Amino acid sequence: MGSRKRHALRWTAGILSLLLIALTAAGCGESKPDTLEAIKKRGKLIAGVKYDTKLFGLQNPATGEVEGFDIDIAKALAKKILGDETKVELKEVTSKTRIPLLQNGDIDLIIATMTINEERKKQVDFSDVYFNAGQSLLVKKGSPIQGLESLTKDSKVLAVKGSTSAKNIREKAPDAIVLEFENYQDAFTALKAGQGDALTTDNAILLGMQKQDPNFVLVGGNFTDEPYGMAIRKGDTEFANTVNELLKELKDSGEYDRLYEFWMGVKPE
Ligand code: GLU
Repeated sequence: MGSRKRHALRWTAGILSLLLIALTAAGCGESKPDTLEAIKKRGKLIAGVKYDTKLFGLQNPATGEVEGFDIDIAKALAKKILGDETKVELKEVTSKTRIPLLQNGDIDLIIATMTINEERKKQVDFSDVYFNAGQSLLVKKGSPIQGLESLTKDSKVLAVKGSTSAKNIREKAPDAIVLEFENYQDAFTALKAGQGDALTTDNAILLGMQKQDPNFVLVGGNFTDEPYGMAIRKGDTEFANTVNELLKELKDSGEYDRLYEFWMGVKPE
């Protein structure tokens, strides 16, 4: 072989191996997330939870601890994966921030009163249903508003950004004025300050508010179905299986019923 030919061959081989490296790197970039592995390596689970939603995830101002049904599920998941329920970091999410925080890798999963629906399934994967809620209305005791039918063009309804509730109420009461807040405590503070006639979200969240201030009551029953799921990154299959396994174990052992009754004050249906 002439030296020119050898030179050309070496060049081709060089370019081919560079191509191979580039292709492998691109392939890795697209590989499926493996959050389960990441949690084990890190030695802690990072759960996105609410900090302002009584019964599900509420920060106790006296202790700084975040407490609720969603929190206890996060702890049980840490116990399942790492053998220790304290190996969990609870990061605050709101209805608006939870999907972006999951997608940019700040949290491993969302356990935050999140309804499973088709629109959200385009962005995230969901666990099996772990709680069944339904949208309702909270009003001041003695309010003339007794349900959806009482809402007119003069009614101001308070809701939270990024929630299904804000979207649903526009369909169910198209005449009403909807005011959106960053989180549930802000919305509730506004209701108490008389900035709106009703607050709308899931019945279980409203029940928590009613417990915080019994001058407010739920009216009009449930007008949507809001099945809660934990959200994980798309294609994170092993992690999804682990989360669903946990739910099954909690149900089989009776722990799920115990937690439900502890937080909600009633047995699950
Ligand atoms: N479950 C509803 C939702 O996922 C309302 C509660 C919330 O805002 O988290 O949007």
